[in-house]
Amino acid sequence: MKGRVSILEVHVKDRRLAEDVNLMDVAKFTPGLVGADLANIVNEAAIMAVRGSRDVISTLDFQEAIEKSLIGGVQLKNRVISEDERRTIAYHEAGHAVVMHATPHSDPVYKITIIPRGQSGGFTMALPEQDSILMFRNQIMARIIGLMGGRVAEELFCHDITSGASNDLQVATQLAEDMVMRLGMSVSGLRVFRRPEAFAALHTGQKTFETLDKAINEILNECYEDAKRIISEKRDAVERVTQALLQQETLTREEFIALI
Ligand code: ZN
Repeated sequence: MKGRVSILEVHVKDRRLAEDVNLMDVAKFTPGLVGADLANIVNEAAIMAVRGSRDVISTLDFQEAIEKSLIGGVQLKNRVISEDERRTIAYHEAGHAVVMHATPHSDPVYKITIIPRGQSGGFTMALPEQDSILMFRNQIMARIIGLMGGRVAEELFCHDITSGASNDLQVATQLAEDMVMRLGMSVSGLRVFRRPEAFAALHTGQKTFETLDKAINEILNECYEDAKRIISEKRDAVERVTQALLQQETLTREEFIALI
């Protein structure tokens, strides 16, 4: 974090910042980002300020720039969406947040919103408490479980499923594939496969292919079942978070904790 603060200090040297801007906070919300990313965030924040005809960069400009960099796309505050869609998105995000909060080794939830951004209808932001070099198996599993929370909430509360989980499932699948094929973290054994294309390669025999395939599906199913168990046990919490999201669109960490 200290390293990021010094990088940020260099990049804001010729910029005018509002008095409330705390570079420590910017650093806190950008774990794992390197020099070029941070330079980008400062640039984006400056552009936001210019767009808003402000001659200083505010904390909100930084927040927007960070979210844009982490989630992609711009905030679409005025996009009109149907009440039904809005409600489904709220359950989906509440599902992520409640599952993450209930899963040990999961990163703390910092923000939940149902304001659309780019391709996503909303998002739940969880950030690690500190930067780390290693990913523990428990942490990877916790991430997959959290990713399943959105889809599971749709199933249990909206009685149908949507395309909203597409990116979640993509990331979850990637993580499960990494565990099996790159990290030696599954029942399939310690052998590492160079790339997912190994699946298609001739030297991956049918039996090996089946073992890998099975191991990946097992991880995904296990995490899905965990998310389902959590949401079934915490229906009230999901309901409260959803109603709060429908009312105020965005919840901070403190508001979320108070609700659950
Ligand atoms: Zn999601």
